[in-house]
Amino acid sequence: MSEDDRRRAELAESLSEVRQRLDAACAAAGRPAEDVELLAVTKTFPARDVALLADLGLTSFAENREQEARPKVAEFDELRPDAGARWHMVGQLQRNKARSVARWADVVESVDSPRLVEALSGAVRNALEAGERTRPLEVLVQVNLDEAAGRGGCAPGEVLPLAEAITTTSELRLRGVMAVAPQSTQSGVAFNTLSLIATQLRRDFPEAGEISAGMSGDLESAVAHGSTRVRVGTALLGGRRLISP
Ligand SMILES: *Cc1c(COP(=O)(O)O)cnc(C)c1O
Repeated sequence: MSEDDRRRAELAESLSEVRQRLDAACAAAGRPAEDVELLAVTKTFPARDVALLADLGLTSFAENREQEARPKVAEFDELRPDAGARWHMVGQLQRNKARSVARWADVVESVDSPRLVEALSGAVRNALEAGERTRPLEVLVQVNLDEAAGRGGCAPGEVLPLAEAITTTSELRLRGVMAVAPQSTQSGVAFNTLSLIATQLRRDFPEAGEISAGMSGDLESAVAHGSTRVRVGTALLGGRRLISP
């Protein structure tokens, strides 16, 4: 067996396990399995792994560092030019990276400030004019459900004003909310809060129905609380080695 074949078999097995968990979580919540999208978080793993996951049928991939994502997306496009993959940025994004992210991202899930909205809309406008992208950028508002953690995200009370700012641009399309559950408390409490915020948002912005919530360790709880997209890294790809910043 070649190295590639071994890795493909390994990924096929973990994908099947994750799909079983998702199916069971949807069944337990009385929701159809198609309700929840599986987003593979490929950070720290090579483009070759993304190509193998694409071969296994996955089409949505996420990265959390712009510098790492840019060359990986380019390499993936060379490995699988016809995959039609969609790339999500899920990590904290500095405004000076907006220009670059606008070239490769289909979705930015970590929008958390009016200044970032402004930077992204300008960057997308430039990228559209330069022919570096053909579509508006889909965005989610990241909500911070844990005052203590510095993982990014706006306060719950800032979601609606930020949504307003996003929808006044013509380059960004508001799709919903994203959050990372704090490790300190029960994730169910956090996901319930997020679901209430999402319901409120949807009242004013019906097109913003996505809830990106749940990772390898807490996807069942997220699905029980209405998640429409789980972001799974470790359970699919294995443990990440620590990388220096
Ligand atoms: C790394 C990461 C994930 C995936 O986490 P796992 O526990 O490996 O599944 C999900 N969301 C964000 C924002 C991440 O940075």
